[in-house]
Amino acid sequence: MSLVYRHVVSHRWERARTLRQLKAGHIRREAVCDADFLLRTAAAYHGYRVERACPVCGEEDLYEVRWIYGDKLGKRSGTARQEDEIARIASEVDEPVTVHLVEVCRSCWWNHILTAAVAGIE
Ligand SMILES: [Zn+2]
Repeated sequence: MSLVYRHVVSHRWERARTLRQLKAGHIRREAVCDADFLLRTAAAYHGYRVERACPVCGEEDLYEVRWIYGDKLGKRSGTARQEDEIARIASEVDEPVTVHLVEVCRSCWWNHILTAAVAGIE
């Protein structure tokens, strides 16, 4: 059994547009660098550091973290999870588990969704 992602929707275009608007001064940095304590902590504990610089501050303190959502997940819906946990949860519940991959900068608090997908076991 392995974890597979289906119906992957990229948010790359919205991310690029947001970064362009920020660079052009159309939106304020505080409006997009607003990762709250929970998100920043989840990024460190459930996510992983990526080998690229933050698109806003340039620091190499960028993480990716997965958040899961689903009607049958109960309190687990809306929590950050590592992939082994997502695989276990997806095998337990009899419904698709929505997974949002989110980019989080621990330096400037920039955050943006990268992809949304449906996790399953096959
Ligand atoms: Zn940053």
